[in-house]
This record gives sequence, C-alpha cells and structure tokens, in this order.
Amino acid sequence: MRVTIAGGGLVGLMLARLLRRRGLEPVVIERMRESQYVARGFMLGQQGHPALADAGLLDEVRQMGRAIAPRPDGSCAAIAVEVGRVLSTLAAGTPVRYEHVVTDLVPDAAGRIVGARVDGPGGADVIPSDLVVACDGIRSRVREWAGLATDLEPMAEGKIEWMSPVSTRETFAMEYLSNGGHIGFFSWPEGSFGWRTVERVGREAALAPGLDALTSSWSALLPAAASGVRGLASIEDVHYSEPELLSCPSWWSPGVVIIGDAAHFFGPETGASAGIGLADAHALAEAISTSAGDPDAACRAYEAWRGPAVRPYEMADPGRARLAGARIDPPGPDERWPPA
Ligand SMILES: Cc1cc2nc3c(=O)[nH]c(=O)nc-3n(C[C@H](O)[C@H](O)[C@H](O)COP(=O)(O)OP(=O)(O)OC[C@H]3O[C@@H](n4cnc5c(N)ncnc54)[C@H](O)[C@@H]3O)c2cc1C
Repeated sequence: MRVTIAGGGLVGLMLARLLRRRGLEPVVIERMRESQYVARGFMLGQQGHPALADAGLLDEVRQMGRAIAPRPDGSCAAIAVEVGRVLSTLAAGTPVRYEHVVTDLVPDAAGRIVGARVDGPGGADVIPSDLVVACDGIRSRVREWAGLATDLEPMAEGKIEWMSPVSTRETFAMEYLSNGGHIGFFSWPEGSFGWRTVERVGREAALAPGLDALTSSWSALLPAAASGVRGLASIEDVHYSEPELLSCPSWWSPGVVIIGDAAHFFGPETGASAGIGLADAHALAEAISTSAGDPDAACRAYEAWRGPAVRPYEMADPGRARLAGARIDPPGPDERWPPA
C-alpha cells in the first residue's frame, strides 16, 4: 500500500517507523527543518509505551527520562523526557522529506483521495497515494480538505504554563484547587514544566502580576515545584493559553485517515494526548499490514479498534466536565490567579 504521512511529529514518525518494520515504505512530509521542533514540557503516558516497545525504543526513551510512578516490574505511569530527544530518536533512520508542505489532497472522479499535493524546495509535486494519513496536528488542514467533521470545544478555563532549565528533586506533583481546577508540574533530567488552570482573563492580565508573584504563588501551592519555578529567568518563560478540546465523529473517509492530535485533543490534566496518538499509530500500522492492500478495510478496522480505546477518554475528559460529582467551591484567596 502506498502510504503518505502528512506531518513528521511524534505520531507521524512513530507510524512511519512501525510501517517500515512491517515492510512498507511510507513517504513522510514534514514542513519543519530536520531537528527543528517546538520545545515544551513533555511526559509520555503509558498509553504510548507499547508502541515504543514495538518500535524497539521503550528502554532507550526510559533511559533518557524520569519515570513517573514507577512500578516494581519496571513499567511506569509516564516518562518525563525532553521531547526533542524523543523526536530525534524516532526520526533516526526514518526517511522524511523535511521542509516540504502538504498543500492539498488529490481526488479522483468519484471523490476518492488518490494523492497528496506537496510543495518543497524543488517545487510542487503530487504523491500518488492509496492512503494519506493526517498526522498534522490539532489544526489539521488535511482533515479539513477531507471534509471530516470537527468538534473544537473551548475549555472553560485558561492555562498558565512555564518551562524551566532547572530539574527538581521530585519528578511529579499535582493538586486540585477548591474550584476543581488543578496545578501540577513534572521534571526531567534537563528541566521542569508547570501548568495550572486560571480564569480566562487574556494573556496580558494573566501575566501582569509578574514573575515574583508567580514564583511565590506556585511555591506556596505546590512546594515540590518551587526550585523549578525559581529557575525561570523572566516572565517571557511563562505562557498563557485558552486550550480547546478536539474530537471528530469519524476518523476516515475514502483515501484519508486522521490520527493523533489531528483526530483528538484532551485536557491538560489527562497527560494523555501524545500517548494516545502513539497508540493510534500502533493500531493503524497493524491495521494496514493486515488488510492486504485494501485501505478502506484498514481504516474500518482501525476505527473499530480505536473507538473503544479513545472515545471513553473524550467522554470522561475532566476538561469537559470538571470533577463531575465532586464538591466545587470558589477559589481560596491564595489560589486565585491573577491575585485579587
Ligand atoms: C505546551 C504543550 C505541552 C504538552 N505536554 C504534553 C504532555 O506532557 N503529554 C502529552 O501526552 N501530550 C502533551 N502535549 C500534546 C502533545 O505534544 C501532542 O499530543 C503530540 O505532540 C501529538 O503529536 P502529533 O504528531 O499528532 O501532532 P504534532 O506534534 O502537532 O505534529 C504535527 C506535525 O505536522 C507538521 N505539519 C503540520 N501541517 C503540515 C503540513 N501541511 N505539511 C507538512 N507538515 C505539516 C508540523 O510541523 C508538526 O511537526 C503538549 C502540547 C503542548 C502544546
């Protein structure tokens, strides 16, 4: 089967590796330069560990990071790790057309997608494809061109996050706030990352109190994160965003399938988005290799396998129904951000 993978992020690279292990030669199109990536705090949930193991990389990634909630059998709930190291491990030995952009899909007369239009330093090209796999992230253009319906739901809260070059003694901590919001952090060998929910006040108001106020608030609410947050050089290391949750009622149409962030995006305290994306890649690689060259059969099998695994995360996402059933109070004075 001729498979074109739009997007060489975590999920696209994982799919490429797993397909190559099954004897296929997918074409991976990535718009960024080789080794370029968006730096961020990253913990890889256990949902993605079987895919890494199948790719022969689980032990290597464990060695690079720190285990969160390690178990006696060597497994763990998640691995906190520098995301650039995971990306370069996945990319090693995987052919990728970097600095190329997928610009459109090519339909046949019946509307079935039979190729991808690609633009790169050498000019425009069409890549004939039996299956185009959208691994192009939450703002997927491939999903849009394929006409797959999208439910993007803004979360009720905003989010503040920071990334520090200081690694802390503790690996992970998270607390719920009185209003059902949450504050958490994790640390890997090269740094640490913290996040908390805040009112949707906009970037300017959220960052206006400044770094000293943020440091003392964080240190009081989550003492394990104190040395990490104290390592921030300026308020520029702190980001405010208004996250959205993404779900799609269907994950494929003839000739196209969407996986990873292109298909779903979960709330921040699940810590599950990347792990579920890697598990998507694992299931799709298996579905493609067992479908004897029939892309529609592969997509049907993929959707049947992944629905029961992914849909419950979407339904139960605490970002949609914050702590359903739990007592919700107004935030305490020390929990308010920006402070009153
Ligand atoms: C600040 C932050 C912190 C996060 N922390 C965690 C965490 O701790 N744990 C967790 O599980 N998840 C976390 N996530 C989410 C996680 O990063 C994603 O779930 C994961 O990266 C999904 O991978 P993906 O390959 O599906 O999409 P992406 O990582 O978005 O990759 C998409 C790729 O497609 C490329 N692309 C896009 N359009 C085109 C095009 N037209 N042509 C060619 N290439 C294209 C992009 O350049 C990119 O490389 C975090 C996200 C953010 C933003």
